[in-house]
Amino acid sequence: MQNTFVTIARYQYSSEAQIVKGRLEADGIDVFLSDNITIDTDPLVSNAIGGVKLKVLAKDEKEARNILASIQVHSLDDNGNPIICPNCGEQHISIYSTITDFKSFIAFLAGFIFGTLPFSTRYKYKCEDCSVEFPIP
Ligand SMILES: [Zn+2]
Repeated sequence: MQNTFVTIARYQYSSEAQIVKGRLEADGIDVFLSDNITIDTDPLVSNAIGGVKLKVLAKDEKEARNILASIQVHSLDDNGNPIICPNCGEQHISIYSTITDFKSFIAFLAGFIFGTLPFSTRYKYKCEDCSVEFPIP
């Protein structure tokens, strides 16, 4: 088990993966990317083959995940303070788009063009710890 690989992250493009690879290697962790060459050749296939996989040896998994968590970008308010989850009080908040399918994308586009939909309804915050979603104030 010592030398098996574990995929700890996936990235849409290899540039992101390379940045994280450099960060982990700075801490002495061996990092292996897979499908990065394929995706560099044709970025449009990234979703189809599951993105660039960032792998580490099983023995390094815990440490690598801790480093990833420490460099994860979470949402800040306009004053640079972390956004706090109203449900659990944690600060692991991501912004995400509610545009999830083609139909809502068309609705969004129509609202955007005609100015009928407020932007704020299209994006929400989501807590990564308890999965509670809440609107952007
Ligand atoms: Zn929460």
